[in-house]
Amino acid sequence: MEIIVCIKPVLDPDMPPAKFSVDSKTNRVIPPEGMPLVINPYDALAVEAALKIKEAKGGKITAVTLAGSFATEILRKAVAMGADEAININDPAFEDSDTFSTAFILAEVVKKIGKYDLVLCGRQAADWDNGVVGSVIAEYLNIPSVIRAKGIVVTNGKLRVERVVANGFEIYEMGLPAVVTLSSEMGQARIPTGWGIINAVKKKIPVWTCSDLGLDPVRVGKTAARNSLVKLYTFSPSRSCEMITGKDDKEAAGKLAEKIMDIKP
Ligand SMILES: Cc1cc2nc3c(=O)[nH]c(=O)nc-3n(C[C@H](O)[C@H](O)[C@H](O)COP(=O)(O)OP(=O)(O)OC[C@H]3O[C@@H](n4cnc5c(N)ncnc54)[C@H](O)[C@@H]3O)c2cc1C
Repeated sequence: MEIIVCIKPVLDPDMPPAKFSVDSKTNRVIPPEGMPLVINPYDALAVEAALKIKEAKGGKITAVTLAGSFATEILRKAVAMGADEAININDPAFEDSDTFSTAFILAEVVKKIGKYDLVLCGRQAADWDNGVVGSVIAEYLNIPSVIRAKGIVVTNGKLRVERVVANGFEIYEMGLPAVVTLSSEMGQARIPTGWGIINAVKKKIPVWTCSDLGLDPVRVGKTAARNSLVKLYTFSPSRSCEMITGKDDKEAAGKLAEKIMDIKP
């Protein structure tokens, strides 16, 4: 089984909210100093799913990310978990790619890798929660996809996927190759072993650029983006406190009810 796992680096979702700030001029999040980006938690589950399939069927896992030169360190974490290869997709032309141009570039990466049975993604990136890239990669590759999987098994060359829905799960069967996105119901991603970490430090991680992929820069980055972010800001709620009293609880409750009825929606 040749498996490609797409990994997005994100701000640590466990970061204290007080550390979160945005540059409203550039509409970008300002990464807090001293807090490195982490593997999107759903993508760590995609690596875990790939490892389980490899343990059962053999094969190779390649982790790919499209974010910037810093992403090499994120990819090392996937290698430390057990991915065999990693590729950093990085070129100034990719800057300001939106969900669709990201999916287009990743689909081209998959085509360049050439031999693949399965492309795994997280169900959504934990920063924007869009949950689009996996399905759009499948569209560009013209192969089947299932989103929000909690389990994947490969038997007799077919894929069996348990997909999470509101009140339970559905079971899908499909041929390969396919794209599957992994959900948190899958369980937990493994913690890298010491040997895994040593292997990851030594791993050579190539960088593929726009020209390596043979892409016209007009088809990627900002020029190809279908969405533009109009305004990014943090919400600052205003709060005030008014004590309501009365000669007894009944009178205080009556006054409180009047106050609530006066509040304009
Ligand atoms: C130079 C550069 C700078 C970037 N800077 C930012 C930034 O500041 N903030 C930001 O949010 N994004 C940034 N990106 C990434 C890119 O814009 C987003 O990945 C893209 O918009 C898709 O993210 P999403 O949140 O819509 O993904 P979703 O659709 O929610 O993602 C679903 C799944 O798709 C896969 N996936 C998504 N994006 C990537 C990726 N980039 N690489 C590999 N797999 C992926 C993951 O498996 C993920 O779980 C940058 C990209 C480049 C090339």
